[in-house]
Amino acid sequence: MIHPNSLYLDFLKPDELEFLKKTAAFCEKEIAPFATDWEEKEELPRALFTAAGKAGLMGMLAPKAVGGQALSMLCFCLAIEEVARHCGAFAMNLAAHNALCVGHPLGFASDELKKKIFPGVLNGDWMVAWALTEPNAGSDTGGVETTAEQRPDGTWELNGHKLYITMGLHSNRMIVMAVTGRDEKGKKEFSAFWINSADITPVRKVKTSGVRASNTSEFYLKAVKGELIGQRGKGQHAALTCLDGGRLGIAAMAIGLGRSAVELAKQRMLTRKQFGKRIADFQALQFMLADCEVELRAAEALLLQPCVMHARGQKFTLEASFAKLYASEAGTRACNRALQICGGWGYTRDTFVERMWRDARLTEIGEGSSEVQRLIISRNLLKAAEEKYGGEEAKK
Ligand SMILES: Cc1cc2nc3c(=O)[nH]c(=O)nc-3n(C[C@H](O)[C@H](O)[C@H](O)COP(=O)(O)OP(=O)(O)OC[C@H]3O[C@@H](n4cnc5c(N)ncnc54)[C@H](O)[C@@H]3O)c2cc1C
Repeated sequence: MIHPNSLYLDFLKPDELEFLKKTAAFCEKEIAPFATDWEEKEELPRALFTAAGKAGLMGMLAPKAVGGQALSMLCFCLAIEEVARHCGAFAMNLAAHNALCVGHPLGFASDELKKKIFPGVLNGDWMVAWALTEPNAGSDTGGVETTAEQRPDGTWELNGHKLYITMGLHSNRMIVMAVTGRDEKGKKEFSAFWINSADITPVRKVKTSGVRASNTSEFYLKAVKGELIGQRGKGQHAALTCLDGGRLGIAAMAIGLGRSAVELAKQRMLTRKQFGKRIADFQALQFMLADCEVELRAAEALLLQPCVMHARGQKFTLEASFAKLYASEAGTRACNRALQICGGWGYTRDTFVERMWRDARLTEIGEGSSEVQRLIISRNLLKAAEEKYGGEEAKK
């Protein structure tokens, strides 16, 4: 739970604090006792999502009018952080579900489509996946080759190959990004579609290093019927907008994993003895602990900024990149140090530190890798510098 001196407390409403308390209780009861078992079975139970739906965790950012919880971005991030303390795989699923699978139709679908899908996607009745990535389209989303063609009767038909899609083979419905044509310069036009997941052709659950319980999947789309979400040609803009929020969820996941691993490392430092002393008495390990705390607090502070901007209705793409980049790398470093502090025990599967360490690694890759975040940040900085100093002038 939130530290009593946390800066976050000033920005949360009383009902949000209540929601977070309930989320912590949900985690203790429904997640903590089972997370290691899910990891070994490489599966999250369907009933977990139903229970999460009832607890409001599947519709955190959606307004009450459609059946959501209408929580702030900060409260959403803190809930993801809390879940990640126990299970990275489920935290990742919840982060993607709320920001992408709910955020995309909420922000861009027609009222008619919204009526059909809400509150089913918010209360745990429907599992939804969000499919952008393909074998030739990862960091470079322009590489998408899946196509959607409009038939004479106005319906759309999708064909393509999607890879690494969270929840893909376990979903009921799916949001799919596809190419719907080219502009006059030959540039691809992207659009988003709502499909029935029963129509996909499964290939496999991809075996991942971490987040093993998550259904990371590969599948084909062969003449699949789709319903356009929002305007034709606006799919990439919508996807990138949703990813801003998604990145905050992934940053929060990294912080939760780091915090949890470090808590266990602290306990180990106090109980494990070597050379006749507690390992807590070795300065080398004390300094590791200090670095973890400073970096996790810095990550928390960086995460606060885009959350406040979201509450003000401001665009926060750049600030989301700062937070995602720093928090994911700080989270990984914290898990790595925690594992080192725990020694051989930390490396075994007798404890959860090694699971958190593998899970944290994903946060540096998913929803835009660290390199992609550095690209966004540096491009923004240089664009601003060009505007200030003038492009050609500055070269002289
Ligand atoms: C567990 C898991 C779950 C996922 N869930 C989903 C999902 O639900 N939906 C979805 O659509 N996708 C999903 N993904 C895909 C994820 O978003 C991509 O893996 C990620 O965007 C990176 O793309 P890539 O794997 O193709 O790596 P690549 O793009 O092939 O990158 C390889 C390396 O090159 C670097 N690189 C690439 N371009 C540049 C550049 N211009 N400059 C410098 N370095 C560069 C990258 O940072 C990386 O280090 C998931 C992935 C995983 C592993």
